[in-house]
Amino acid sequence: MRFQGLIPALRIFALPLRSHSARALQRPPLPIPSATVLKAGPTIPFLGALFGSSAKTESQPNNMSYPDQRSDDAWQAVLSPEQFKILRQKGTERPFTGEYDAHYPSQGVYNCAGCDAPLYKATHKFKSGCGWPAYFDSIPGAVTRHTDRSFGMERTEIVCSNCGGHLGHVFKGEGYPTPTDERHCVNSVSLRFKEDEGQGN
Ligand SMILES: [Zn+2]
Repeated sequence: MRFQGLIPALRIFALPLRSHSARALQRPPLPIPSATVLKAGPTIPFLGALFGSSAKTESQPNNMSYPDQRSDDAWQAVLSPEQFKILRQKGTERPFTGEYDAHYPSQGVYNCAGCDAPLYKATHKFKSGCGWPAYFDSIPGAVTRHTDRSFGMERTEIVCSNCGGHLGHVFKGEGYPTPTDERHCVNSVSLRFKEDEGQGN
């Protein structure tokens, strides 16, 4: 008697393939297993999303390799605290305060304040009125672009191609009367002007 009662129950739980029979299809779905699946299901993707987003934030700073691979300690030894904050930690100087904001020499080159690589020529500079030095172009290959998704917007960050130092952002299609219709919006702190164009490139 006891065994006859147990065997049908064992069939349902231990042999689920048998439940494809017409008899099993007539039964309503068992509430307990489906509720268990629903409860366990969302937990894993939720945790995954949390870990995923923090990992993304950490890997977003340039993971490219630049020729100049100095460590943060080495940069701190040669840069002022303000230069370190902007070049190495992607800071921004306050508008209309920078040394080169209203600086319009007829010739010369703006080098990277970190590694001294030539970045912009004086002839690339134009008056944008935006509060930061603005260039419509750079010395070829001197500046590298990255997508920057900080602060809830998507912008194009520009960095020195030699050391990865943060320069600012580039904006396109603003309608400035320049040959490229691009504006490299650069922190003065990231630059060092050299009157002598020197060895070219
Ligand atoms: Zn540099």
